[in-house]
Amino acid sequence: MTHRPLPPHDEDKPHEECGVFGVWDAADAAALTALGLHALQHRGQEATGIVSLEGGGQEVRNARFHAHKGLGLVGDNFSDPKVMAGLPGRAAVGHNRYATTGETALRNVQPLYADFEFGGLAVAHNGNLTNAHALKRMLVRRGCLFQSTTDSEVFIHLIAISLYSTVVDRLIDALKQVQGAYSLVALHNHALIGARDPLGVRPLVLGRLPAREGEAQAAGSGWVLTSETCALDIVGAEFVRDVEPGEIVVVDDQGVRSIKPFGRSPSRFCIFEYIYFARPDSLVEGMPVYEARKRIGAELARESAVPADVVVPVPDSGVPAAMGYAQEAGLPYELGIIRNHYVGRTFIEPTDQIRHLGVKLKHSANRAVLAGRRVVLVDDSIVRGTTSRKIVEMVRQAGATEVHMRISSPPTTHSCFYGIDTPERSKLLAASHGVEEMARIIGVDSLAFISHDGLYRALGRPGRDAARPAFCDACFTGDYPIPLTDQQDNSERQLSLLHAAP
Ligand code: SF4
Repeated sequence: MTHRPLPPHDEDKPHEECGVFGVWDAADAAALTALGLHALQHRGQEATGIVSLEGGGQEVRNARFHAHKGLGLVGDNFSDPKVMAGLPGRAAVGHNRYATTGETALRNVQPLYADFEFGGLAVAHNGNLTNAHALKRMLVRRGCLFQSTTDSEVFIHLIAISLYSTVVDRLIDALKQVQGAYSLVALHNHALIGARDPLGVRPLVLGRLPAREGEAQAAGSGWVLTSETCALDIVGAEFVRDVEPGEIVVVDDQGVRSIKPFGRSPSRFCIFEYIYFARPDSLVEGMPVYEARKRIGAELARESAVPADVVVPVPDSGVPAAMGYAQEAGLPYELGIIRNHYVGRTFIEPTDQIRHLGVKLKHSANRAVLAGRRVVLVDDSIVRGTTSRKIVEMVRQAGATEVHMRISSPPTTHSCFYGIDTPERSKLLAASHGVEEMARIIGVDSLAFISHDGLYRALGRPGRDAARPAFCDACFTGDYPIPLTDQQDNSERQLSLLHAAP
């Protein structure tokens, strides 16, 4: 295991919790997993880990698992040939972490691994369980000893105490007890297993690797389970399909098997994946994310056009929406804010003196585009509003005569409990301020958000059906589709009393 400094992140943006990647039956499985995790780096930058399986499948008697985990980025942890040589085998599972539960400590870095009577099991989880505290209390009473502070460890103990005999039956038994959002990839001696929660809140896709030159098709074409299609692209795998909500996919030497142990319920995929989290080159639930963002921008222009000279994105996440807005509004699209991609580790723990410069470390205004112009600034969300205020100030200082902000999501009025790190409700600007008040605080001439119906229209729906919304949109509506058991039973706020030394 390695311990590296953490990269900086934007405290005024929601953060995706995790990315998962698993591969079955491929040469260099750990290297493919490292590549996949690299493509999923946007889903978590705090820590990363890979567990590989040597001699599994039909050679089950010789099965051995190998693990390497570290804090920091994938490239920092998996570029050393010695590390990769220590992860042999034709199957592997990996994880990128952005912590929403449990502190950042190596014991929380996934995949979590445990030995059972049926063999080894490594589990990588994207999402957040909403009854983890309640389950942990029950498990501790039954004698389970928790080693980490992450909610994902609950899966391991539920599998351990299950009375079923096979790993798949035990997993199903565990999944029937948890509430919340999960996309899981688990590696066992005999199989790679993927599972998605019954509402399919977080994404999970199945892909197939091409046969390698000189290998027979059957021997060479391994399988991949991962969070996004961009991770399939980087390893040259072909997108097969989305894992369905509530589906368990078992990949072994016989091929792929699908199990649907839950009754059918309508999908509530996270709408924020389209707006912000997923990578723009990914295909999410059948829709290219880039296209979805452009359509949201176009809808925003139809809803809240304003006389202006130029449309400017807040990079990077506002870029496709700004392009859609500009095309629909018939306005020029220009890069009026330049993002510095090399805000390095120097500023991980900035001094107060540096910190007050804030956003300037990351963004700078392009005076040539902004001076003397009426500017439409397009961003994907306003969380606390602190970054937006600084960006607007910077744009005005560069000579913009008017600044109109357009946001490609509805106001973020509620926190997420399904795997996205958002501040508590009292810190969300839109939770306690109306749009005009927010405009005054941010310092813009006008502010508009896409409407709920407009967002749904951009995603190919007639509008938001309040009785049966097609997506999870709880952070914009407060309509939480999965019970928030731990929030309602607020007696214990943390999963462990032991906290890592700084
Ligand atoms: Fe996504 Fe918001 Fe639902 Fe969380 S609450 S899963 S961010 S839509």
